[in-house]
Amino acid sequence: MKSKTIRAIIIIFLFFVAISLPRFLTKIPFGNKTRVINLTAKKYGYTPGRIFVNKGDTIIIKPNSKDVTHGFLLDGYPVEFIIKQGGIAYQKYEWTDDDGALHTDWDKVNEIEFVADKPGKFIFRCTRVCGNLHPFMTGELIVAPNTLYHKMVFLSIWVIISLFLWFRVKTPPLKNQGSLINLFDIIPGLKWLFKRRSYQFFLLLPGFIVFYLFIIASLKGTPVGNHNITIIIVWILWWFLLKSVFVPLGGRLWCMICPLPAPAEWISRKAFTAVHFIKNPIKGKHHKYTGLGLDWPKKLRNMWLQNIIFLMMISFGIILITRPVATAIMFLLILGVTLISAFIFRNRVFCLYLCPVGGFLGNYSMASMTALRVIDKDICKKHKNKCCIKGSPDGWGCPWNQYPGTMDRNNLCGLCTECVKTCPENNIGFFLRPFGSDRAVKNYSEMYNILIMLVVAIAFSITMLGPWGFIKEAANITESRHISSFLIYIGLLYTMSLAVFPGIFIFISRLSARLSGYKGDVKPLVLTLSYMLIPVGIFAWIAFSLPSVMVNYSYVLNVLSDPLGYGWNLFGTADFHYNPFHPEIIPLIQGLLLLTGLYFGVNRVNLSLAGLIPDPLKRKKALLLPSLFALGVVNIFLKLYLG
Ligand code: SF4
Ligand code: SF4
Ligand code: SF4
Repeated sequence: MKSKTIRAIIIIFLFFVAISLPRFLTKIPFGNKTRVINLTAKKYGYTPGRIFVNKGDTIIIKPNSKDVTHGFLLDGYPVEFIIKQGGIAYQKYEWTDDDGALHTDWDKVNEIEFVADKPGKFIFRCTRVCGNLHPFMTGELIVAPNTLYHKMVFLSIWVIISLFLWFRVKTPPLKNQGSLINLFDIIPGLKWLFKRRSYQFFLLLPGFIVFYLFIIASLKGTPVGNHNITIIIVWILWWFLLKSVFVPLGGRLWCMICPLPAPAEWISRKAFTAVHFIKNPIKGKHHKYTGLGLDWPKKLRNMWLQNIIFLMMISFGIILITRPVATAIMFLLILGVTLISAFIFRNRVFCLYLCPVGGFLGNYSMASMTALRVIDKDICKKHKNKCCIKGSPDGWGCPWNQYPGTMDRNNLCGLCTECVKTCPENNIGFFLRPFGSDRAVKNYSEMYNILIMLVVAIAFSITMLGPWGFIKEAANITESRHISSFLIYIGLLYTMSLAVFPGIFIFISRLSARLSGYKGDVKPLVLTLSYMLIPVGIFAWIAFSLPSVMVNYSYVLNVLSDPLGYGWNLFGTADFHYNPFHPEIIPLIQGLLLLTGLYFGVNRVNLSLAGLIPDPLKRKKALLLPSLFALGVVNIFLKLYLG
């Protein structure tokens, strides 16, 4: 008890050290200068892309555009202007009339002057739709001393030191199933709802209709991404909700309502909601499916194909999320593959082994705060019929080929609720649990998936949020036509995600085995340690998607009134002004999110390592290098977002 108190005091003391040190270490700028910046705007970046000044400096910007009209809106400062070719600019200013009404106007100017009186990193953004990659045209003003960034760096180190100080001699397990809250018990009607045959059908029907409308909108609407409802809703709203709400809270909750595999499943079952039960099972199922009904090859029952498909898709990521036609083609391709795979194979083969979104959801859903599990495994052991796998007149045998009786991870449970309907013992619950409860990474394809997700988050942060126009140009192959730059871009992406990051991680994990004197098989140790990067990855993805919603929410309002970019104004929001929502606080939130991911990553792996390495001292040694790896990764993101 005494040692616990001492450790708590040291941790609190170190916290204050971490937040105070940057003040002393950061160089306080001496004397202010006037800095003249010749700023050139060209699709899709500014030169210079990063402007470094000291607090109190007077900045004079002389803007020019090399191609079309661009905008300049600086986060945290009342500075906005339009940049035209020939060095002409229009600066926005506001004034109040005698009745107190606020008006805005534009002044024709050649230069814009302001004092950098707030320290930190501030993004400036293009406000005029200048082309496909317009939403990603940004630059950065870094006003020294950038204490927030340095504080976050010190705090990230503090998180690691504190966790190592705090790890107890005996690691208590997270709550076991018996003590978890079953949501069926506390949410009236939830179980009744899950048991209805029509539940999933009616849940996904609105999304299904919207999905087809989106395909039409992609093909028939404007090709300008941020005026087309498909691009805005899918890649801003849905992508953000998927990463920030669905996955951390519900795991594969999205799969419950996903419209993509629905037609294939309906055709394969020859039913929308009904169950076709046959008495004599065919290959273990009491159903006959349309098509060949083959089983997926055993050798391919892993994530390798998903990893490859995800990487291929992500190679064209910036094109997919800015071109409506590209998004439509992707949807139609997925639809086609779901139909073909459902004709050849039984059940959700596409979802299990091919879906690129499923690859993202699979591993990350392990950390989610809810899980569908059996209430009592002993009941399953005694229950002979196993209706949950084989099917019954009440429901289909698990379409995801899972056996709930032994299922201990969320990865491959699509939350279709069939087992809730089929289980005659009412032995299925829907549990609320601590974040990061499933922690078993089972093979190298999963470990690679974790690292690929992390590298892609870094790559996207650099490409889409960063100030480097030449990287955007390289990724934007269909417009730039710079094939060699594109090949270098994807070559780097593949090398980092398939060789460099996994190579370093495996190397340091093996080194950790030596350092800790671990004598067992190294593979389970490497896999267990790799779980650390799941919470880090989830929070990094949330931090990455946050600006797209806070900055671009106005586009959502615009496209709701004018979904096809035809000039309609259905709800009066088509002309809602582009006005980022408190963008100056985004770096702070991003920093806190990254620290949270780091905390959960290291903490949860310490819990799972207890099974492999019971000695706490050896466990700490095994944890050290991977924790430093995670710390390094978090600091890459901190540098990108705050530095
Ligand atoms: S795995 Fe993919 S296609 Fe299948 S339900 Fe989930 S998101 Fe949809
Ligand atoms: S049907 Fe219910 S009780 Fe039987 S094995 Fe499946 S989940 Fe367990
Ligand atoms: S039937 Fe299978 S996929 Fe559906 S909820 Fe149950 S375990 Fe999950």
